[in-house]
Amino acid sequence: MKPQPALFISHGSPMLVMEDSPARRFLTDWRVHHQPPQAILVASAHWEYRGGPAVGTAARPGTVHDFGGFPPALYDIEYPAPGAPEIAEKAIHLLREAGYRVERAESRGLDHGAWAPLILMYPHAEIPVFQVSLIAGASPREHYRYGSALQTLRKQGVLIIGSGSLTHNLYEFMGHAREDRAPDWVTEFEFWIERALCEGRHEELMNYRTLAPYARRNHPTEEHLSPLFFALGAAGVEAIAAKIHGSHTYGVLSMDAYQFTADINPSDASAYLTEKTYG
Ligand code: ZN
Repeated sequence: MKPQPALFISHGSPMLVMEDSPARRFLTDWRVHHQPPQAILVASAHWEYRGGPAVGTAARPGTVHDFGGFPPALYDIEYPAPGAPEIAEKAIHLLREAGYRVERAESRGLDHGAWAPLILMYPHAEIPVFQVSLIAGASPREHYRYGSALQTLRKQGVLIIGSGSLTHNLYEFMGHAREDRAPDWVTEFEFWIERALCEGRHEELMNYRTLAPYARRNHPTEEHLSPLFFALGAAGVEAIAAKIHGSHTYGVLSMDAYQFTADINPSDASAYLTEKTYG
């Protein structure tokens, strides 16, 4: 079985699934360039659990419409992918071996941080999906360690996705039109993250809140960036980062996406490297 990469995806607004955009086209093109995984594990910004990780073990996870004020059609969308209870149990075992106290979430459905990108990437919902929570209040380093505890699942064909937003200030989001140009405080932060990831400066990334320009303005709270550190950890220490998409929505929301690849033979690499798409 071929290993899968880890990804960080910016999911933006739930309208991602309904309106054409460069990020939507990037996600709908994904499966053309990529070998289908056995299962998908998602750590979404929209599920934080206090005290330790929680793991979704439902055989038929429901579709959770965890947002308000959007058009009714968005609430009718279902993503009926099967769960992956056996792989979820493996995840629980790996996390317990790494010293975590793990909660089993048997009736947890898929939040929009999971289903919104997946309905574009795998619209037939044929690949089993399960979620793991973020750890509420945990640092970048703690989320990195958490992801690294699950990295062997990639070698068993599980695609690991951290789903958040590379920038996420919803106070500044108000009043922007969808096509607005990104301000400098957004692009300078994005560029700093890109350089640090692609040059492998992981220690600096762990301290991004004091080192990166406009870190607090782009992330007044951290939950939409924590999935990046989780995905980076899940790729392992040898991980090579590649920016696989870059665009913005409503000016201040970066839709940047990264792929972290490790332990993949060079001869197989072309199957995993998607073409860069920029909007
Ligand atoms: Zn979100």
